[in-house]
Amino acid sequence: MHEFSTMSQIVDAILQEAKKHDAIDVKEVHLEIGELTFLLEEPLKFAYEILSKDSILERSKLIVKEKRAMVSCNSCGYGGEIDYDQTFSIGPHMGYPRYPKISCPECDSRVEIVAGKECTIRNIVICVEG
Ligand SMILES: [Zn+2]
Repeated sequence: MHEFSTMSQIVDAILQEAKKHDAIDVKEVHLEIGELTFLLEEPLKFAYEILSKDSILERSKLIVKEKRAMVSCNSCGYGGEIDYDQTFSIGPHMGYPRYPKISCPECDSRVEIVAGKECTIRNIVICVEG
């Protein structure tokens, strides 16, 4: 399960960060998920619930925000969002994320993906003692 292994790394990172700041409790965790990661919100939340059990994350709220993919085209200079064929996003449900063929909406050349493949912890709201 794609979401489970990713979330396991995220939870480790959050716990490390919380420890660094002497957190006694974590209230909110804000994640930003690029649309090309093919991570889905529901399985992510489910994985988070399991992985945060018996830790200071147990009562925290996970807030997931999707980030649109952004591309940049070297041929015509286009920069911005893309619409890729939604049928490609069926791939990850079978366990193998397949990247769609992404081409420039203006000139159909190959583009460079500048955003949307990452999964970022944007913010963590913690409680500290005292
Ligand atoms: Zn172009």
